[in-house]
Amino acid sequence: MKTFPMFLRMTGRTVVIAGGGEQAAQKARLVLKTEAKIVLLADVLDDELEALVATGRATHCTEAPTASHFSDAALAFIATGCPARDAAIAALAQAAGCTTNVVDQPDLCDAYTPSIVDRDPLVVAIGTEGAAPVLARQVKTKIETMLEPRLGDFTAMAGRMREAVARRVPKPARRAFWRWAFSDAPRRLHAAGAERDAAKALKDAIAQGGAPGTATEGLISLVGAGPGARDLLTLRAVQRLQEADVIFYDRLVDPDVLELARRDAERVFVGKEVGASSWPQHKIDAVIVAAARKGQRVVRLKSGDPGIFGRATEELAAARDHGIAVEIVPGITAASASAAARGRSLTERGETDRVIFATGTCRAGDSAPDWGTLCTPGTTLALYMGVAKAAEIEANLLAAGVPSSAEVEITCSASTPAERHFACTLSDLAETVASEEVSNPAIILVRHSKLRTEVIAPTQPPLSLVATA
Ligand code: SAH
Repeated sequence: MKTFPMFLRMTGRTVVIAGGGEQAAQKARLVLKTEAKIVLLADVLDDELEALVATGRATHCTEAPTASHFSDAALAFIATGCPARDAAIAALAQAAGCTTNVVDQPDLCDAYTPSIVDRDPLVVAIGTEGAAPVLARQVKTKIETMLEPRLGDFTAMAGRMREAVARRVPKPARRAFWRWAFSDAPRRLHAAGAERDAAKALKDAIAQGGAPGTATEGLISLVGAGPGARDLLTLRAVQRLQEADVIFYDRLVDPDVLELARRDAERVFVGKEVGASSWPQHKIDAVIVAAARKGQRVVRLKSGDPGIFGRATEELAAARDHGIAVEIVPGITAASASAAARGRSLTERGETDRVIFATGTCRAGDSAPDWGTLCTPGTTLALYMGVAKAAEIEANLLAAGVPSSAEVEITCSASTPAERHFACTLSDLAETVASEEVSNPAIILVRHSKLRTEVIAPTQPPLSLVATA
């Protein structure tokens, strides 16, 4: 390591910023997060920096820079926008013994500014000693997704309670108390916006002399894993995965997604092959409820959006029947991902003004949907679980008057490395599914455009043909 990471206390210290333009303003924004005094060393200031001086948050010095301008400063940022001038001023600052950062000239720097994840008072600083700023930003993005936006407020609140904890919670129980505070109900409540409840939970526990005996309260999260690609998960889904004690996941959930979970979280495959009975729904309902009753944080990870052909209703009911807190974390559904993968919108103004999500396969004994009645002019019909029923779907739509030339797009395994696309017309749907060996999972999109139906088919043969008949 060529550098030494450290957090500097800036209260009452001075930071000199040489420069009056955008580069200087960027540094000023950074320093403004602290309580440091800011001195702007420049002939002229841009409007933003002028405003800073007007509010008294910075002072403006128009003298020609000398070493003495830097002698009392904790830090100097050299950011005039002119590399040669920057180098000359940096030499003055360094001659005064001031720790110096020079914009875009790593060789002249004594100090580099890290990428920062700011949940003040929690601050994560990421640096690469100037070797790969892009990597630092990638790491920053990862950490940003791990830490909920309000975590800073919660950390500050916990900090304010440290003294009370030290007084009321016996030393051997303190570590468990803080582990509970930051991984259980208080943090979760706070993250969900229930600040008062979070504070009450902390205060009640302090009054009782430690974290509640039952270390956790069970919660079931029905989490949408999206269509496959792990960067199509929502931030909330990632958070739930990282909090989970146990994850029950489906056949269509990509292994990459599971990697986002805590390493010691238990993972249970409850994949249902269509029609197979190894994990019937009632058994899944029973295991998720049993885990939550043990006080575990349960994630039921489902492909796409849990609320679209995802059997969420049964799981919600099972949880509620047992008085267990349950929530849905929505996900990106396969129809959205399929249209996106083809670079097309699900709705197209003037052509289709509604989308219908329909299933191709129903519970045994239930009547199949009448896709033809649904697919009136102006409809994009997104069919889930439709591959095996392609011939039936095609016949039903044609019989209902959907033009044989209607566009059909089939996307298999959207957003995964196995993604495949096929385009055909409605009259070729069954033939395409068979000849291309279209496999599950796949979405069939039928676009019944308003425009196409306006092209009225001739009811009489063309005149030339009439003449020769
Ligand atoms: N809840 C899921 C749907 C579950 S039903 C969602 O919102 O997406 C399972 C069906 O979803 C599959 O038969 C297939 O039609 C569709 N599906 C799921 N993932 C898919 C993917 N990556 N690409 C295409 N279709 C997919």
